[in-house]
Amino acid sequence: MANFFKDNDDLQYYFDKGVDWDSLAQITEHDFADADGEGFRNTEEAVEFYRDIIEMFGQFTAEEIKPYEREIDENGVDFVDGEVVFPERLAGIFEKINELDLHHLPIPRELGGMNAPMMLYFMNSELMARADVSAMAHHGFHAGIAMAAVVFSALEGSSDIDPVTGRINETRWRKMVEEISAGKAWGCMDITEPDAGSDMGALRAVGEQDADGNWYVTGEKIFITSGHGKYHFVIARTEGADPDDPMGGLNALSMFLVKAYEDDAEGKRTRIVQLSRVEEKLGHHGSATCGLVFDKAPAELVGKRGEGFKYMLTLMNNARLGVGFECLGLSESAYRAAAEYAAGRGSMGKTIDRHEMIAEYLETMKTEIQGIRAVAVTACFHEEMAQKLALAIRYGELGKNEKKQMKRSMKSHQKIARRLTPLLKYLAAEKAVEHARTSLQIHGGNGYTKHYLPEKLLRDALVMPIYEGTSQIQALMAMKDTLGGIIKNPQAFVKRLAQTRWRALSSRNPLERRVAQLQTVSLSAQQHLVLRTAGNKVRGLRRKPIGEWTDELTKNWNPKRDFAFAMLHAERLIQLLGDTAIAELLLAQADKHPERADVLERHLERAEPRARYLLDQITSTGHRLLEKLSPVAAESTSQAAE
Ligand SMILES: Cc1cc2nc3c(=O)[nH]c(=O)nc-3n(C[C@H](O)[C@H](O)[C@H](O)COP(=O)(O)OP(=O)(O)OC[C@H]3O[C@@H](n4cnc5c(N)ncnc54)[C@H](O)[C@@H]3O)c2cc1C
Repeated sequence: MANFFKDNDDLQYYFDKGVDWDSLAQITEHDFADADGEGFRNTEEAVEFYRDIIEMFGQFTAEEIKPYEREIDENGVDFVDGEVVFPERLAGIFEKINELDLHHLPIPRELGGMNAPMMLYFMNSELMARADVSAMAHHGFHAGIAMAAVVFSALEGSSDIDPVTGRINETRWRKMVEEISAGKAWGCMDITEPDAGSDMGALRAVGEQDADGNWYVTGEKIFITSGHGKYHFVIARTEGADPDDPMGGLNALSMFLVKAYEDDAEGKRTRIVQLSRVEEKLGHHGSATCGLVFDKAPAELVGKRGEGFKYMLTLMNNARLGVGFECLGLSESAYRAAAEYAAGRGSMGKTIDRHEMIAEYLETMKTEIQGIRAVAVTACFHEEMAQKLALAIRYGELGKNEKKQMKRSMKSHQKIARRLTPLLKYLAAEKAVEHARTSLQIHGGNGYTKHYLPEKLLRDALVMPIYEGTSQIQALMAMKDTLGGIIKNPQAFVKRLAQTRWRALSSRNPLERRVAQLQTVSLSAQQHLVLRTAGNKVRGLRRKPIGEWTDELTKNWNPKRDFAFAMLHAERLIQLLGDTAIAELLLAQADKHPERADVLERHLERAEPRARYLLDQITSTGHRLLEKLSPVAAESTSQAAE
């Protein structure tokens, strides 16, 4: 029997050894406080249940979705009389998922869910994406949006949560969560507009309040995945444009929940939000991507006005992790199709997988998938721990010391998740496209036809670097966080650089030495970017070592002028950061489980020369283009480099 979990050694490594289930089960089960009720008694019991679920889903995705991926792609979805209609096959798949009770996997038990960790949910997402990414994207808007409603209510303080058992006695959107959990409704996330995608400060949809305090949303949203759903988390402007807003207009945004339609007892639908169109896309055909018109649609404000960006980030962090796992599923599918084809196709006296270049392509794909999975699982773990600790701190009955300790732990998880999430989104998305293309190339002429899978995978993959924040936006985020951290605490950076250089020379473990050498290259690139960025801002500092810079640096930034050079090289930097993060994670795995050393060695073999090349590009290119774009910025960076 085909099973996408059981046939995947790398994924099984994480399930068996690479995930700290103890911590996840403990915090998700609130220290097993409900052991006498429906909850688990201990981690072993919980993990046994998680295993049953993932094994069952591994078989379901392999046998009930994969065989129909071409049909899903060809049929797409229909738009009839202003409503989205799913073809029988796809509707049937979602019906089966509902019968398996999987729409509500991570939803708390007391709200009708299974109370599984997000980690399990995301691992399942990878399996589903390997079968068909569009079905997975659509599936994600069940539990994903219901979970957002649970978390938003807890964050804004509208939940009643038992301080001892962690049980949710009441939550603001209980009815919606239960409806979604039961598979009776979908949700979605409405941000993008015709004139505002990456630039959220330019969003125009408005949220207005009448004299009685009721809120209404008016405006147009486009490209909304599962926009035919009933429950919409919508970002809209509630304040006028403030040219002095240091957040570039983001403080003027608020988050709303809007119900798009109401069905009466006979099933007759009254639409509150109109569907203007369903996009005809290159790929992702099983997922409806909708245009929507809000005309004074009644809305509920989430949190306080002006907090929209904050709530959106919570939603988006999870969505970006979701895309990471989605990309992994697609890459896995591309790799396996290529490996199978290459093993059966003969050329010049042997099968093509024995030809050197093809063998290297296959090994590279495998290595990259393993590296990205390390980032995905780690980022997911820390994000989930951070979010659950935040709620435990807020609602739990804790002693002063315990609270302090939990806060420290939460911050540490937050920091790692914040560092890894843009790297995951960037790497997984870019590699998904590359893997699909390589798979197509390995299939030769057959790959260019519709009889073989890679052309579909390539069409499906091309959206990954676009949605949930483009690759360029991920690169900018990683660059700003990395350089901002150095500028805030230059002494710590200098210390880290010295320690890393020392480890690169002196470590007894050759693999650790190689990882430290890679880190040194990445830190050198960061140092170069900081010197260029900051050197001209405070001219007197140019000739001083970074460690002696004062807090002068943290004041009066002009992002357009000061960061131009770093923005130019942000994508190179994120590639370096990604390669380094993967190496660090694989080294930690190899320390504990020697069989993982092989994955690290394959990664280093590719990452080391790439890092030297990227550093060379960062240190030796860019000035000419900057001069063309803005002579002022170019002048400042070239002087800084002197
Ligand atoms: C299939 C699909 C599903 C989607 N689902 C949803 C959804 O559910 N909800 C939702 O709200 N949206 C959704 N989107 C929209 C998606 O999030 C946006 O398309 C994306 O954020 C990019 O915005 P844009 O299309 O306006 O491109 P733009 O922002 O105009 O960007 C165009 C190009 O310019 C680059 N760019 C922009 N600014 C900068 C900068 N400062 N520096 C460097 N480069 C820059 C971008 O990286 C990109 O390459 C979906 C899109 C698609 C195609």
